[in-house]
Amino acid sequence: MTNDKKITTASNSPSTYSGGITIKSAQEMVSMRAAGKVVASTLTLLRNSVKPGISTRELDAIAEGNIRSMGAVPAFKGYRGFPGSICASVNQQIVHGIPSDKVLLEGDLIKMDVGAVYDGFIGDAAITVGVGAISDEARELIDVTRRSLEAGIAAATHGARTGDIGAAVEGYASERGSFGVVREYVGHGVGRFLHEEPQIPNYGPGGRGPMLRKGMCIAIEPMVNLGDWRTRLLEDQWTVVTLDGSLSAHFEHTIAITDGEAEVLTRES
Ligand code: MG
Repeated sequence: MTNDKKITTASNSPSTYSGGITIKSAQEMVSMRAAGKVVASTLTLLRNSVKPGISTRELDAIAEGNIRSMGAVPAFKGYRGFPGSICASVNQQIVHGIPSDKVLLEGDLIKMDVGAVYDGFIGDAAITVGVGAISDEARELIDVTRRSLEAGIAAATHGARTGDIGAAVEGYASERGSFGVVREYVGHGVGRFLHEEPQIPNYGPGGRGPMLRKGMCIAIEPMVNLGDWRTRLLEDQWTVVTLDGSLSAHFEHTIAITDGEAEVLTRES
């Protein structure tokens, strides 16, 4: 789940801090990894469950069942009143779609965002999946967004700044074509709380923002549109859609900053 830029969540985690950002202890990292595995397992199950005719409510039930069977709790359910265990966003919906009786059709793009709390710590990740056969441009959009996340992860090193991640994500997407990288929703620190400091932008110049340190855990989550980057919030006060009605894709991983390459905690095996 993304962080609404207008809202910052205070954290009272007992972890140590660097510049107001929590640094996970080795013990806390054990729990972060376990939470990440629950999320990865759930995303694999969802990926394999997507087919024409299934409703987003059915996908939500599948995810909740898997999360609870692994001894975890859905992190999104009840978060600021969100009714689902997952966010399920279809086609021009970017993020925060509410699971419903909406049935997936051949050619749709479904974005599934999963959060799980395990032993007090949260994993948060998202994938975009095509329903049956999808258009060439939809496939390209998925590929660009997934690879822009990997570019962002590669930039998330000890001593780098949050802006370096945004620059890497936007830089990759712009090399691939005229895609709209969403600016109004961003990634975030994650740990005992779903949305911790710092915010992780998907755009803008590098060399700015808080410095990343070993032991920080962050969720990087590019949202990329086939058209313009601007967004609109639906009347349900949750679902974010592209302003121009174009298709959108979203990928997210929770990662831990290390001495070397970031450790991806929500990687599907
Ligand atoms: Mg998130």
